[in-house]
Amino acid sequence: MSKNKSSESVKVVVRCRPLSRKEESNGPAGGIVQMDLRLGQVILRNPRAPPSEPQKTFTFDAVYDSSSKQRDLYDESVRPLIDSVLAGFNGTIFAYGQTGTGKTYTMQGLWLDPEKQGVIPNAFDHIFTHISRSQSDKQYLVRASYLEIYLEEIRDLLDPNHSNTRGLELRESPETGVYVQDLTSCVCKSIKEIEEVMNVGNQARAVGATDMNEHSSRSHALFLITVECSQPGPDGRKHIRVGRLNLVDLAGSERQAKTGVQGDRLKEAAKINLSLSALGNVISALADGRSSHVPYRDSKLTRLLQDSLGGNAKTVMVATLGPAPQHYDETLTTLRYANRAKNIQNQPRVNEDPKDALLREFQKEIARLRAQLNHRRFRTKQKKEQVDGEAWERDGDEEEEEVEEEEVEKEAEEFVKLEEQRLELENEAIREDQFLLAEEKQKLLGENEKMMGDLRKRQEATEQLTARYKAMESKLLVGGKNIIDHTNEQQKMLEMKRQEIAEQTRREREMQQQMLIQDEEAVELRETFTSLQQEVEAKTKKLKKLYAKLQCTKAEIKDVNDEHVRSRQELEQTQNELTRELKFKYLIIENFIPPEEKNKIMNRLMFDPEEDEWKFKPLVPDESKSSQMKKRPASAVGYKRPISQYARVALSMGTHSRYRAENIMLLELDMTPPNTSALTDGEQNQSPTLNNSPTHDKGICKSRSWYQSQKSITSSSSNNSLAGCQMAAPAAAM
Ligand code: ADP
Ligand code: MG
Repeated sequence: MSKNKSSESVKVVVRCRPLSRKEESNGPAGGIVQMDLRLGQVILRNPRAPPSEPQKTFTFDAVYDSSSKQRDLYDESVRPLIDSVLAGFNGTIFAYGQTGTGKTYTMQGLWLDPEKQGVIPNAFDHIFTHISRSQSDKQYLVRASYLEIYLEEIRDLLDPNHSNTRGLELRESPETGVYVQDLTSCVCKSIKEIEEVMNVGNQARAVGATDMNEHSSRSHALFLITVECSQPGPDGRKHIRVGRLNLVDLAGSERQAKTGVQGDRLKEAAKINLSLSALGNVISALADGRSSHVPYRDSKLTRLLQDSLGGNAKTVMVATLGPAPQHYDETLTTLRYANRAKNIQNQPRVNEDPKDALLREFQKEIARLRAQLNHRRFRTKQKKEQVDGEAWERDGDEEEEEVEEEEVEKEAEEFVKLEEQRLELENEAIREDQFLLAEEKQKLLGENEKMMGDLRKRQEATEQLTARYKAMESKLLVGGKNIIDHTNEQQKMLEMKRQEIAEQTRREREMQQQMLIQDEEAVELRETFTSLQQEVEAKTKKLKKLYAKLQCTKAEIKDVNDEHVRSRQELEQTQNELTRELKFKYLIIENFIPPEEKNKIMNRLMFDPEEDEWKFKPLVPDESKSSQMKKRPASAVGYKRPISQYARVALSMGTHSRYRAENIMLLELDMTPPNTSALTDGEQNQSPTLNNSPTHDKGICKSRSWYQSQKSITSSSSNNSLAGCQMAAPAAAM
């Protein structure tokens, strides 16, 4: 991939946790992971290989061994990223590794111990401290969301009701890229509030799971923070920058055993790691740089992280390792995975004035409420001054002066009180006035009552408006104002020094790594040989070095090949099992479902690529398309509904036409049992049933009378009418 000026690679750091007590008691073998902190290298020993086999070495942007502190990792590798987010870049941190290697420990840590707090709490601290120390012309809006991807379904962890129903949907917009539709997002004004959001989410996560450990190792947790900052630019207008931060705790990267499972369990197993294997494929495709297609759409996770991998974001990947010998294979896989991710190039840029900035909406709404309030207060003040008899002078223009808010508010309240008192007094006076007629008194009192009511209503409306205004305004954080910074100068200095040291360590390591590379290249150039013997020695040394490298690479190729074969075998096995299941389903369909039913279903099915699912087309087309359906059948042109041949004939003969289209009623008559006895008997038998029948209403009588008016009807024409009915019935049912 070509490097341009604004592109930068994904930063990859590796962290190894200490041996657990159980692992220590397992044997004296010790860890298999060694780290060179100065060079950022991980050296992996194969516990099954002979000691002569060269160890595997990987180089990363930084490595953290078992004695590393949470704070070190944060200051060196995460702090610069959060600073970028605060400046309006997108940022992503994800923890990748086998279950139990410390992903959650790195991302969240132990909340109660300040020394052991992970990346997320430290980031909260960082963001809000930054806001409290920034200049007062900056306004901030901080929002947080928390979601989980489990079995390829997205669950909103902040909305427990949502988690019961089906998962959330992913949508794509040209402005913001891929986003989750209807995801809850909470505006947070302080560290405490955002911690509360995190807690709520963590609880929702635990509640949904029968076994938290199992669940968390199979699901991906994404905590999203959006920081919007508005600041007046040189042009005098307010500019908004939006930084989005994704904090991702991935599912355990270990292979899910698929052998021997069938049916739903198989599908579940296939789905669990779908997102992770898709992530691997995306990383491979990006790192390779030659493949034109990056399979982002293969899973929900990769779609959500699309920007973070090869797009508009700065990304840090923390790969976590366990030092135990029994996990050698998984550890090696993790290191290879991480090594590949180093080659991904991103193109981060500042998100300046995006259309969907919520902060702008907030600012607009606040300005609108403020104008409304000012207007109301101004009116009240005006009235007060009129009542007070003060000369009200206007300069002619309609502009309302910007008066001190609090003063005006107080004045307005006072005015309302005074006005109430005045009305009360007036009422009193009216009641006591002996010269007024009772009727007049009532009228005057009523008027006053109305005025009082109006006054109160207005006052209430103003209060509501003020409350809304204040609530809106309190959501915006103003630089250096809303949050009190408790740290004193000394602590601040200490913090700064620590950051400087972290920065220096980082630079030193970069230089060391570069020197190592240059050394290897330059050694040949620098060497001058005094004798042939010396030259031979030097060349032999170099040859040996290169030979060792060759062996390493050969071993690596063999390893990768083996792994490839293994994963292919696994895929083949999965395929075989799926094929077997498919055949079983076919068998059922072919033998037990009537072909016409099958065809009906097949015709109604359609594939929804957005949700990756087969769906039924609706039986009844929705409202918007109903106009197509209402087309009249050709047999009904000019009539309310299709009518039978018989009815047409009847119509042309000029008989009673009211029920001409409803000759379906004739069915009643055809149900008459065949006349085997005398006609009179039959009539006697029949009439009571007709009378008792629930369908013996006006309609039927009339239809009968119409029918009977057809004097010349024979039995054959009656048959005709039945045939007509049968013809008409399906059409009428349409
Ligand atoms: P994962 O989330 O990757 O499954 P966890 O974060 O739950 O793993 O870690 C498993 C255990 O290891 C936890 O008890 C955790 O406290 C411990 N642990 C992980 N990393 C470290 C570390 N760097 N230092 C000390 N303990 C750690
Ligand atoms: Mg975990």
